[in-house]
Amino acid sequence: MKILIVEDEASIAEVVSAYAKREGYETVCAQDGLSALEIFFHDDIDLVILDLMLPKLNGEEVCRRIREKSSVPVIMLTAKSSESDVVAGLDSGANDYVSKPFSPRVLMARVRAQLRPRETRDNIASGVCADGRIEIDPERVEIRKDGVPVPVTKSEFLIFSTLVSRPIRTWSREEIIRSALGDDYDGFDRTIDTYIKNLRKKLAEPGHENGWIKTIYGFGYRFDDEK
Ligand code: CA
Repeated sequence: MKILIVEDEASIAEVVSAYAKREGYETVCAQDGLSALEIFFHDDIDLVILDLMLPKLNGEEVCRRIREKSSVPVIMLTAKSSESDVVAGLDSGANDYVSKPFSPRVLMARVRAQLRPRETRDNIASGVCADGRIEIDPERVEIRKDGVPVPVTKSEFLIFSTLVSRPIRTWSREEIIRSALGDDYDGFDRTIDTYIKNLRKKLAEPGHENGWIKTIYGFGYRFDDEK
């Protein structure tokens, strides 16, 4: 597995790279946003560790451009750590968020969590829903609408397939976190709303403005298969 480390501070990039190599990953480093995209789209990258403040193109923009084409996990690494920065990072499509100063061992645990085989999750639905229009493919971590892949992140995929796995059940935010993202997830409840917002943006169409996800006010969400 190959990790792209995007970081303009050479000393940090070196430490991260050394830890990743010790875990058995290959690494490739980029020092600015543009060369990060150049490498990402010409190399076979399994995960991206992405600094937010970068020369030429900032991390959020890099993440957004990666997300237009790929659902490879992105972990943001940044000195910014206010709630709105976390939300902005996740909005741009990041899967996880580690703030500086950080422990390289914790960062590696986050990397492992993102790359962990999907089979360990037991709540993932597979098959078709929404009158056969939406297909969930755990093998490829892919959601297809009318046969066309929808570019979702792994977390978005896990959340959507969790909702679909029990179509008539309403899930609280906490249940979604526990079932879809696992106990090691340490974001806050409201982060789920951001994921849902992103999913809706990607799945919505006239007649299904909510992207097949229904909000149950005061409680949570459920898969909306009503015609
Ligand atoms: Ca930086």
